[in-house]
Amino acid sequence: MKPTLNDLPKEAKDKHIENKKYFDKLKKKTPKNLDYVMQDLHDAEFKKTNCLKCANCCKTTGPLFTSADIERVSKYLRQKPQHFIDQYLRIDEDQDYVLQSVPCTFLDQDNACMIYDVRPKACREFPHTDRKKFQQITDLTLKNVSICPAAFNIVEEMKKRLPL
Ligand code: SF4
Ligand code: SF4
Repeated sequence: MKPTLNDLPKEAKDKHIENKKYFDKLKKKTPKNLDYVMQDLHDAEFKKTNCLKCANCCKTTGPLFTSADIERVSKYLRQKPQHFIDQYLRIDEDQDYVLQSVPCTFLDQDNACMIYDVRPKACREFPHTDRKKFQQITDLTLKNVSICPAAFNIVEEMKKRLPL
């Protein structure tokens, strides 16, 4: 069962050492069918997940905006890219453009994204659990399991399906 959003930070913290050990092994001994299994686990979890009832990613962490994202979203909002940057973005410690504040400005009251069709690539791909070569993004996943209940569940299922 998925943890509730209230319980998620504690449950993720309780699993952190176990998950870290598992991911360390995964990097050293990557199963040949990893991409296939991750796609399967991701699809199964998101089939029963209603992100509109959650939106925790949009509320607690923002995406980074690539140049292509800035071009696309600003065009949609009929703004000049620089105007969009000045209004919504800042540069973070990794020199990436990120939102000036969270919850995301583009999240509406019903948890829907106001720029859904043109949303940043990072939003489209979050929580990245269907990414090829998943073993390369385990550090990111360790963080995402404390934000995203679906990612938490996928990692729990992954440990059962691919014991290491
Ligand atoms: S945190 Fe995960 S489950 Fe919640 S809205 Fe984001 S992707 Fe969906
Ligand atoms: S742009 Fe849309 S999908 Fe991305 S964080 Fe904001 S509300 Fe969520």
